[in-house]
Amino acid sequence: MERLRVRLKGAVQGVGFRPFVYRVARELGLKGFVLNDSGGVEIEVEGERSKLEEFLVRLNRDKPPLAHIYSQDLEFLPSVGYEDFEIKESRGEGEREVSVLPDIATCDKCLKELFEPNDRRYMYPFINCTNCGPRFTIVEALPYDRPNTSMKKFSMCKECLREYRDPMDRRFHAQPNACPVCGPQVRLLSSKGKEIARGREALKALVEKLAKGRICAVKGIGGFHLMCNATDEEAVRELRERKRRQEKPFAVMFKDLGQMKEFALPTKLEEALLLSPERPIVLIDKKKELAPSVAPGLKKVGAFLPYSPLHHIILRELSFPLVATSGNLSNEPIVKDNDEALEKLSPFCDYLLVHNRDIVRRCDDSVVKVIAKIPTPIRRSRGYAPLPIKLGFPLEKRILAVGGMLKNTFAIGSQERVILSQHVGDINNLSNLEAFEEAVHDLLKLYQFEPQLVVCDMHPRYETSRWAQDFSRQRGIPLIKVQHHYAHVLSCMAENGIKEKVLGIAWDGTGYGEDGTLWGGEFLIADYQSYIRAYHIKPFKLIGGERAVKEPKRVAISILFHIYGKDAFGVVEERIKGLSEKEVELLYKAWSGNVNSPLSSSVGRLFDAVASLLGLKQVLSYEGQAAIMLEDRFDGSVNEAYPFEIEGRQINWVPTFLALLSDKEVEKIPSRFINTLARISLSVAREVGIQKVCLSGGVMQNAPLVEKIKERLQAEGFEVYTHRSVPPNDGGISLGQAVYRNVQSL
Ligand code: ZN
Ligand code: ZN
Ligand code: FE
Repeated sequence: MERLRVRLKGAVQGVGFRPFVYRVARELGLKGFVLNDSGGVEIEVEGERSKLEEFLVRLNRDKPPLAHIYSQDLEFLPSVGYEDFEIKESRGEGEREVSVLPDIATCDKCLKELFEPNDRRYMYPFINCTNCGPRFTIVEALPYDRPNTSMKKFSMCKECLREYRDPMDRRFHAQPNACPVCGPQVRLLSSKGKEIARGREALKALVEKLAKGRICAVKGIGGFHLMCNATDEEAVRELRERKRRQEKPFAVMFKDLGQMKEFALPTKLEEALLLSPERPIVLIDKKKELAPSVAPGLKKVGAFLPYSPLHHIILRELSFPLVATSGNLSNEPIVKDNDEALEKLSPFCDYLLVHNRDIVRRCDDSVVKVIAKIPTPIRRSRGYAPLPIKLGFPLEKRILAVGGMLKNTFAIGSQERVILSQHVGDINNLSNLEAFEEAVHDLLKLYQFEPQLVVCDMHPRYETSRWAQDFSRQRGIPLIKVQHHYAHVLSCMAENGIKEKVLGIAWDGTGYGEDGTLWGGEFLIADYQSYIRAYHIKPFKLIGGERAVKEPKRVAISILFHIYGKDAFGVVEERIKGLSEKEVELLYKAWSGNVNSPLSSSVGRLFDAVASLLGLKQVLSYEGQAAIMLEDRFDGSVNEAYPFEIEGRQINWVPTFLALLSDKEVEKIPSRFINTLARISLSVAREVGIQKVCLSGGVMQNAPLVEKIKERLQAEGFEVYTHRSVPPNDGGISLGQAVYRNVQSL
């Protein structure tokens, strides 16, 4: 007889791991115990050596589908004579190394019970089991046990408790286990806060209101959605007006794949993503228009499937899909509490569906786009956060990386992993800065994480950089600043486990450069210690600074001034409608006199200029709009490109724009422009001659561009790496910051 001790780390709690161990140990006749502690799972089993070895094989082979084992320590010890196999109480002390699981979509077994009239949870919107349900959004502290969740205020009825305690039951230790007798309940409120109905009646009433074209705020897993009939133009337009949201697309929740396929054309890969337990919003080609205001002027629609029992109940009763957009004031964090919803969302909605299971932390829906056959996160949040990104190397310190300003996520990193926060959003106002601060303290507390080092962006005016400065002073820990595009490249290297030097192509809207100008068209030779700016797009002026970021016409005009000087006036008049001579005159003065006209090498802005010159868009109503419009007009059968010149370390776009301006085949211009960028990448890659090439930055959300670059570079033997774990946009910056190792400054 021998004793085997196994310590597992990873995503091993809240996934049915202990009952699984219990069953295997029982079947093999082994004695001992299994328990959850803050480090993961600890197991001791006693028996014959051969049985212990078989136990190990099955532990790894048959583990529950949602479990991820990151490390296991094994130790064979003398036996101590256990009499039985038991599941012991969780232990809470020690460093928090265990992974908190993300929220997981309702599983098929629960779904079946949900719609089974004889089941005791028939139509109960909080049904869940060990394999599904909320996790990250209900946990207050580790280990993940019911008293440490927002379910602690509900005491289980006899039936639920029996399931919870029975290792053979599929709800054994399902922490949010509940039923209509003992668990949370929904209520429907008027926008004034008056209760209209409760429970099943409330759900019925909600469905009726939605069917009548009403706008309803519905409390979900990580916050509130605003919902309305996605085929009812009047309702959708009303929602836009109330939210003051002009054109930024709304996501649409469909009952099932069948319903979705009436309106969209998902590929097999997109179908798999839609059905995955993470249930992200997936950007999919439209087939037939929903209400025209859902995603105006776009080729794709953000589509997703129900992921909570509540969504399933609502959509099943309706004959149409629902707009399901984050419930928030524009640009503010998503609303998660009932009181907050009444205060902030009432002006937008006619009714509110609330419930009494508290959301501990907000978590927006994730967004995924398939780019070059790879599911690429555009927003990594619910369903993914806070699963760690595994590194192939250890970090020397415990690091807090605060991320950028737009689409913010932050990260904590130690040993061989980095945990990225949920999506925090744009940190450009006070309430978002507060939400950011709250989220940082929340994650630090959850993991009992004491940072030894804080990392931020180099931009002096990012709120997150200022916050990091204060934090480092208060804690007496060092602060390190990382250049924006270098962080983009590092994030791509880290998630792909690259150890060698790379050529990083980091293209985005703008980021602060080492020389104080706004970068965004960068070719960096990089490793984890340092980088050099090998090549970049020739800088141009952004007339009006921030305003040029929102007004493509200002970039186009700047380009025209650069090419033609004062002679540009005629071309401006011909190309960009709606500008008076006076305005052009003023812009020229600003441009030539360098009045609030910072230099930028941004490829994102070049997309804006092209969209403006094509008359597609002169003023953006959301970030990235112009680039998406060009992407939507890409035609894979067009192979020509425009000329460009490499002059020293700069890529000169003057020949490109000259050719573009005289191109009579207007409908081919977007494709030819994108092809040109791919050829520029190839030329630089040849010059640099480094085998591994990383593509990052917001511009790399452009699917045809990434596909073209990959195709061209791979054809010449380069290895091209893109994102699959974190977003190419600024949502991935925090990972890059966390893995930067400038040893001198430590
Ligand atoms: Zn389930
Ligand atoms: Zn119950
Ligand atoms: Fe960026």
